[in-house]
Amino acid sequence: MKYPSRVAFLMIQLDILAVGDLVRAEDGSILKADSTSVLVRAGGRTIVVDPSTKYMRPAVKTSFRQIGVFPKDVDTVILTHSHRDHIENLDLYQNAEVLIHSGSDAEIAGAKAVDGGEIKICPGVRMVHTPGHCPEHCSVFVDSDRHYAIAGDAVPLEDNFRRMIPPRLNTDPSLALQSIKNIGDYADVVIPGHGFPFMTDR
Ligand SMILES: [Zn+2]
Repeated sequence: MKYPSRVAFLMIQLDILAVGDLVRAEDGSILKADSTSVLVRAGGRTIVVDPSTKYMRPAVKTSFRQIGVFPKDVDTVILTHSHRDHIENLDLYQNAEVLIHSGSDAEIAGAKAVDGGEIKICPGVRMVHTPGHCPEHCSVFVDSDRHYAIAGDAVPLEDNFRRMIPPRLNTDPSLALQSIKNIGDYADVVIPGHGFPFMTDR
C-alpha cells in the first residue's frame, strides 16, 4: 500500500528522551533536580527541548539509540530557560542552533536570543513566552495528534498545574499563574519541567 507523501510531511513525532525528577527536603531545599528532555521531529526539523543534566546523560543517549536518531542529527535546541538543571547536556548537540528567549540575563555560549510572545519554529511547533518562573521562560507548543505543551518550569511539577500553584522558585508569581493558565488553555497533554507527561481535562 502506498501512503500519500503529504501524511509523512505533516506527521509530527514527539518522544521523551528522559524523565527528570525534582526532589525536595522537608524544609523545601532542593536535593536533586534534573529536567525532562524532549525530542520533536517536525517539518524536517529535529528539535530537542531542554538537554537536561549530566546525571540524565546516559538515559538520553539510550533513548536516542532506541529511537534511531542521533544527537548529531539534532538541528535545533530550544532552552525553556537558562537554569542549570535544564541545559547541562547542551554539548551533545554540536550541529544545533540553540534558541533561548531574550529575557535571559545568563550567558549561554553560542545561543541565539529570540524575542516576542510566540516564535514559530516550523509548521506545528512554536516557542511561547511563559514568564514567571524567570523572565525568559518559554514553553514549546506542538500541534500534533494532540496539543502538547512542553512546559519547562512554567509547570515544574504536575501538582503546580492541578492546584494552580506558581513554581516555588519564581520572579513573578502572578505572571507565573497566567503562564500556567495559558498552557492549560492550549494543551491536551502537558510535559512538565520535571516528571512524566500528563493529560489535562481540556
Ligand atoms: Zn528552572
